[in-house]
Amino acid sequence: MVERSYFDWNATAPLRPQAAEALREALAVPGNPSSVHAEGRAARRLVEEAREEVAALVAARPGDVFFTSSGTEANMLALTPAIQTADERRPRGKLLISAIEHPSVRTGGRFPRDAVADIAVGADGRIDLVALADALAETSRPLVSIMLANNETGVVQPIAQVAAIVHGASGLLHVDAVQAVGRIACDINALGADLLTLSAHKIGGPKGVGALIRAREDVHFPDPLIRGGGQERGLRAGTENVAGIAAFGAAAAAVRRQGGAEAAHMRALRDMLETGLKAVTPAAVIFGEAAERLPNTTLFAAEAMKAETAVISFDLEGIAVSSGAACSSGKVQPSHVLAAMGVSPTLSSGALRLSLGWATTESDVERCLGAWRKLATALSKGEAGMAA
Ligand code: PLP
Repeated sequence: MVERSYFDWNATAPLRPQAAEALREALAVPGNPSSVHAEGRAARRLVEEAREEVAALVAARPGDVFFTSSGTEANMLALTPAIQTADERRPRGKLLISAIEHPSVRTGGRFPRDAVADIAVGADGRIDLVALADALAETSRPLVSIMLANNETGVVQPIAQVAAIVHGASGLLHVDAVQAVGRIACDINALGADLLTLSAHKIGGPKGVGALIRAREDVHFPDPLIRGGGQERGLRAGTENVAGIAAFGAAAAAVRRQGGAEAAHMRALRDMLETGLKAVTPAAVIFGEAAERLPNTTLFAAEAMKAETAVISFDLEGIAVSSGAACSSGKVQPSHVLAAMGVSPTLSSGALRLSLGWATTESDVERCLGAWRKLATALSKGEAGMAA
């Protein structure tokens, strides 16, 4: 069997051992967290301990964490005209989003299509703050949703500056921090976010668990997506995914315990990878290179490269890479992120994303570069890709 190296951590990260252990232990607890008996109380304890860990990861209060089935659901829950604060109970008429948001934000949540407006980004992938201020000048009390870091390019947005502009215009700010948490600092108050979305599987928790976190308890959602038994303080009905939530908590605790060590590890390897890529292909374009980026992400393209073929070529060499965003259909679609950055469709169609994580090793990077050398040679000879 070919040895495998995984370079698709932005699609999903492997389960951390601590999360796997928490998952196994929680599955053995028979109780329903809503039951008052000892078994129920044990399940409740697991959920509340996880809530504390997830809250601590972003310096929020446990009571402001609402567990959901995914980052996607947390985004859907947040993006509603009905969102209220103590001093503002009227519906919000407009949603402003950046042109590079994840599809779960791009769809506009529960806002009508014509109430959603795009804010442009520059060629470096960072939001145009002047365009944001201009849009806010024409809009009264909007909800604004801007991601902390982009899933394709890794470009980090200047969220503290965004928050100051949004709050100056009486807007509320939702921040999708799904790709950022665990990789860069993510303190909800330092960011100035009113709401934050997280997803367990990007930090080494299981797939199918997320959280919406508010900065203050006066932010309310009178229109839950799922109504029923009143779980998650009425915001998200349905018996809690106790094992998934417990494992999310364990992953959050592990992220917090390592401090910044994992980010430093990822940055060193990512830099080694980029230096190697450029040594083989000096003309390779690394998207968002001029901006601050996540320490684990490289999105690049080279002349004549077709992403679909390249993904298969790498896969045959034992390397898992992605053609950009993971897409449920498995098809490669033109990247709306690169289009928003003004990248030509031809170059964009060759974009490959290499994303790494805490378990990536130097020999993974060497193997990846070896595969790239082979592919680059094949490309320069006009061949479709590497031989297996
Ligand atoms: N937001 C961003 C930036 C993402 O990258 C993703 C997943 O790729 C999501 C939201 C959705 O998270 P989930 O997979 O938990 O639905």
